Amino acid sequence: MCRKIELWFVNNGLGSWLKTMPYTEDRNKWYEGQGNWKDTPKSDWEDWTWQLRNRITSLEQLEPLIDLTGDEMTGCQHASKKLAMAITPYFFNLIDRDDPECPIRKQVIPRSGEIVVSGEEMLDPVGEDAHSPVAGLVHRYPDRVLFLVTDRCAAYCRYCTRSRLVSNAQDYNFHPEFEQGLRYIETHPEVRDVLLSGGDPLLLSDNKLDYLLGRLRQIPHVEFIRIGSRIPVFMPQRITDNLCDILRKHGPIWMSIHANHPKECTAELKAACERLAFAGVPLGNQSVLLSGINDDVDVMKALIHRLLRMRVRPYYIYQCDLITGSAHLRASVCKGLEIIKKLRGHTTGYAVPQYVIDAPGGGGKVPINPQYITKIDDEAIHFRNFEGKLFRYPLKSFMIDDECRCHEQEIEC
Ligand code: SF4
Repeated sequence: MCRKIELWFVNNGLGSWLKTMPYTEDRNKWYEGQGNWKDTPKSDWEDWTWQLRNRITSLEQLEPLIDLTGDEMTGCQHASKKLAMAITPYFFNLIDRDDPECPIRKQVIPRSGEIVVSGEEMLDPVGEDAHSPVAGLVHRYPDRVLFLVTDRCAAYCRYCTRSRLVSNAQDYNFHPEFEQGLRYIETHPEVRDVLLSGGDPLLLSDNKLDYLLGRLRQIPHVEFIRIGSRIPVFMPQRITDNLCDILRKHGPIWMSIHANHPKECTAELKAACERLAFAGVPLGNQSVLLSGINDDVDVMKALIHRLLRMRVRPYYIYQCDLITGSAHLRASVCKGLEIIKKLRGHTTGYAVPQYVIDAPGGGGKVPINPQYITKIDDEAIHFRNFEGKLFRYPLKSFMIDDECRCHEQEIEC
């Protein structure tokens, strides 16, 4: 729907009716361009170090660019105490400056809700610190570790699970120690899978990344290396030929990007994903389910379809962790289940991500699925399909173990 018509609805008190309208988009259009920075030389715009140097990091820089609401002003004033504000010019361009509810805007411009801390919220909501044998390394699952190699990001997501340490606004005093982490991995032969995260590992210089990946590749028991990065989404200019050469040299390196809304899938991101894919990097996407941003089946469907077209497999939808000051962004679990129910069977299987909750306090990721099994008895498993129709598959008694028996009661959902 065109913006003028939308505004007419809002101005005539029909905003809430508008919210029930399905999300629509021109599927063949990919946003691109320099927008607000159209006079910046292309060579600067395409230089990731220019994007970093010109990030919007203060209320003073933000105010001339956008009319802030009172809620956002308060949020910006508080940001330096919780999680710093930083927005790359590239990502800022994706904001609809006429719309206070713009899904891009809500992800990066702080709001007063960040100040409100409820009882169930935590500084370390998924219990990473308790599973850290050495600073910057989390060893929760038997065969894999999370290696936090930096505390900085290109831009800061207002719902970040690691707000306690990224940007160092909370004086957490985290100093990533490569050597300590590498030594731990070298001396733990059970670790076959290393996930580099942070902060954002792609913020490291090419030389540092080359060194780190080279050291990991020298460890015989490390079979699988992954990078979790939002940089392709915040700053696709970082995906240079040299970076791709490094990733190719140490490959296979798998990468999870982090896009939450179809508006983030621009021509620039598509081209960056193509460069990564051609360098042999398998790509997945992790989204966080966020209230008023992507807790809508049409929005999610548009996102996952765009991801597939960018060579990215939708991997996870995370229920937003119970990070302090995130209640205004957390969507309901029922909404998450409804989205999966309306995707599974209704679109390409490859496009359907796994919905997970990272168990509060440190239980790890747990898949949350709509209920398809209705009953398991001594004779059959009973289940419903994506249309709600009921079916049964016969079982022989030896096929039923104790775990199955917990389904013997009829399940209502
Ligand atoms: S990019 Fe990742 S680590 Fe950085 S602020 Fe966003 S969610 Fe947190």
